[in-house]
Amino acid sequence: MDKYQVKNKIKLDSWDPQEHGAFGGSKKDALDELINLNTEFAAVQEKLYAENKHKLLIVLQGMDAGGKDGTIRKVFAVANPQGVRVAGFKVPSEKELTHDYLWRVHHQVPAKGEIVIFNRSHYEDVLVVRVHNLVPEKVWKKRYRHINEFERLLADEGTTILKFFLLISNEEQKQRLQARADNPEKRWKFNPGDLDERKLWNKYMSAYEEMLNRTSTNWAPWYIIPADKKWYRNWLIATIVMSKLRKLKIKIPIPDLDWDKFVVE
Ligand code: AMP
Ligand code: MG
Repeated sequence: MDKYQVKNKIKLDSWDPQEHGAFGGSKKDALDELINLNTEFAAVQEKLYAENKHKLLIVLQGMDAGGKDGTIRKVFAVANPQGVRVAGFKVPSEKELTHDYLWRVHHQVPAKGEIVIFNRSHYEDVLVVRVHNLVPEKVWKKRYRHINEFERLLADEGTTILKFFLLISNEEQKQRLQARADNPEKRWKFNPGDLDERKLWNKYMSAYEEMLNRTSTNWAPWYIIPADKKWYRNWLIATIVMSKLRKLKIKIPIPDLDWDKFVVE
């Protein structure tokens, strides 16, 4: 899965959102394997909660209709809600805007035993904020450094961080937004403002590219996930998360007591 990790400088237009090469088999095989990964994830999550030692932070970023919500449902919602939490980041409130941009983020990070999924994140502060000039360039330019240092602090204090950029094609976004507009069951998700953002596609891609190049670190790597094919996106993210979790060697703790002595009457 190494090839999806951003290690050297990348050019986004050389990444194919439809690529699905790392999975050898068919779509059906990938769906079957996702079920196994889901089961394994749920079991490890329970141990992580019981052990109360590790903290896992997953960051999901992507364009509108990029598949952030779907990923949460298909990859992470299989776990026990006790110990797993989703934090979504919307347009900051007036109160949030009176603080620095990391203020609202820091108190959402995982505690020991917790897995937290960020549905959007502090990266919006170098994406939408940059594209719409919500703060001057000299302000957002400094944020890459702050973010790297902030994530280093979290990592130094025991947080494992994985960041996923869901890469969809312009054409796939068009189809997904149209599907939302056409289907009464999906209309609640349709936001006319998404059409204005869509017009800024190229500016967003430049902002994403710089974000990936400046903030993929050893302690908080970015992975670029080809996301036009939902089955591949889910399988790939589940695979990367599990390979990281396996390395943490999470164990259910056994209190050091004289267990033979306990007889419950
Ligand atoms: P959604 O993810 O569809 O619920 O939309 C949330 C919206 O909030 C998106 O349009 C984001 O770009 C926007 N948003 C999130 N964080 C920020 C931020 N720090 N500044 C401005 N807009 C933001
Ligand atoms: Mg939206």
